[in-house]
Amino acid sequence: MSAKIENVVIVGTGCAGLTAAIYTARANLAPLVLEGVLPGGQLTTTSEVENFPGFPDGIDGFQLMQNLRKQAGKFGTRYESGTVVGLDTASWPYTLKLADREIKARTVIVATGASPRLTGIPGEKELYGGKGVTTCATCDGAFYRNMDVAVLGGGDSAAEEALFLTRFASKVFLVHRRDTLRASKIMADRVLAHPKIVPVWDTVPVAVEGVAQGAVSGLKMKNVKTGAESVLAVKGIFVAIGHVPNTAPFKSAVDTDDQGYFIPAHHSQVKTKTPGVYVAGDCADHHYRQAITAAGMGCQAAIEAERWLAAKGG
Ligand SMILES: Cc1cc2nc3c(=O)[nH]c(=O)nc-3n(C[C@H](O)[C@H](O)[C@H](O)COP(=O)(O)OP(=O)(O)OC[C@H]3O[C@@H](n4cnc5c(N)ncnc54)[C@H](O)[C@@H]3O)c2cc1C
Repeated sequence: MSAKIENVVIVGTGCAGLTAAIYTARANLAPLVLEGVLPGGQLTTTSEVENFPGFPDGIDGFQLMQNLRKQAGKFGTRYESGTVVGLDTASWPYTLKLADREIKARTVIVATGASPRLTGIPGEKELYGGKGVTTCATCDGAFYRNMDVAVLGGGDSAAEEALFLTRFASKVFLVHRRDTLRASKIMADRVLAHPKIVPVWDTVPVAVEGVAQGAVSGLKMKNVKTGAESVLAVKGIFVAIGHVPNTAPFKSAVDTDDQGYFIPAHHSQVKTKTPGVYVAGDCADHHYRQAITAAGMGCQAAIEAERWLAAKGG
């Protein structure tokens, strides 16, 4: 008896994967969705989402992902737990490799997201997502109106986060382990000229304070030159030390850049060098990194997969 061949396997259940599931399920392709280690994706780690269109009063991140999951399920999406460790595209249908099984697929949509890098200091994990520690100024900056906040990092993304936060926060402390920014000169100049941004040089974070109260009350820091410790009284801590895209298992089928992000092969931004393999969401986009842009790419990937299958007669 021959093994089942799936029309579409979607890897990941964040906004990109579940939107792709809604579209491919409504196209009668009965997609199989693999959940990975974080069912629902990054948005399940935050509380209030205020910028996803259609929710004028905002929506809880976990609830939004439950809604997407339910919506895709309604049209015949099947969910399985499991993490993909490899994708073999030497012959078609392609073979997805998981620890305990293999799955044959005519098309594959990779929507594995990116994991924000964290510092690992005490208190950070406990107060992450809705309690004061976050990795996204665009998402959470508006919650810190007229408050003092800290940004951790010294590269371009830290500089961008700091500048964006000046629209809301009363003061933005930019905590960096060196005495110059790694950011490009133009960004660094803008940051250093801004009256609301206070650089804190030669300093590393030591602990996030406020765990007992369930909300950030300060950042304990250490000066690497003098060894002196101090506490910044901030309500928000924006960790901006980069992201790690979850792309390693797919590198033979999809090109990646020097940071590991997928490089789409065509203007459509979701097609890859391998016909029938598509990418969507944060795993292929380090620029926007938003729920709505990830969902948009999921939609594009689904339509491409559907058309490709139709052109192949399947
Ligand atoms: C704290 C926080 C708050 C945020 N707030 C907002 C906000 O308010 N508004 C907004 O627009 N955006 C927000 N974002 C950004 C938003 O969450 C992301 O842009 C969005 O989740 C990206 O969706 P995605 O589907 O690309 O990937 P992700 O959400 O990262 O999902 C990736 C999925 O892939 C799965 N996966 C990974 N590797 C594998 C594998 N090998 N095999 C199988 N499955 C795998 C994971 O289990 C997960 O289900 C926030 C992010 C964070 C971290």
